Amino acid sequence: MSRRCDHGSKGKMLESSGETTMLIDTHAHVSSPEFADDLAAVLERGTSAGVGQLICVGYDLATSRRAVELAEADPRVFATVGVHPNSVTEEAEDWRQTIGRLAQHPRVVAIGETGLDYYREFTPVDDQKRALRWQLDLADELGLPVRRAPSTTT
Ligand SMILES: [Zn+2]
Repeated sequence: MSRRCDHGSKGKMLESSGETTMLIDTHAHVSSPEFADDLAAVLERGTSAGVGQLICVGYDLATSRRAVELAEADPRVFATVGVHPNSVTEEAEDWRQTIGRLAQHPRVVAIGETGLDYYREFTPVDDQKRALRWQLDLADELGLPVRRAPSTTT
């Protein structure tokens, strides 16, 4: 079972009055290891389907680093960096500092994905709250929006 959210937006080309609208996928997990072998093909299929840009959402340290790398390498890609509530038990002491450094990259557009997940209970609530607080503080400090984990409770 995946520990992060398992949804994703499905892009479609919109046409209205003969004009074509570029779509932006605002929640893509293409920094996940599952895309390591065919990422270029995935991005090209997205482009062919009208997805002109995507926001690659990090959910732990490795995927946040990879999201920034992808954003640097491809002008279609922007990044978020953060720690999903179901990944907070893997969090090491230096994650906050590293995520904070990554968040200052000009192609990072939000902090997250983060939030509180009381449904799946993979991680202690107090650890989730602590991680959410420092990510909210980081977002506030940098003036960035927060990408909420969509499966979390409100
Ligand atoms: Zn997600």
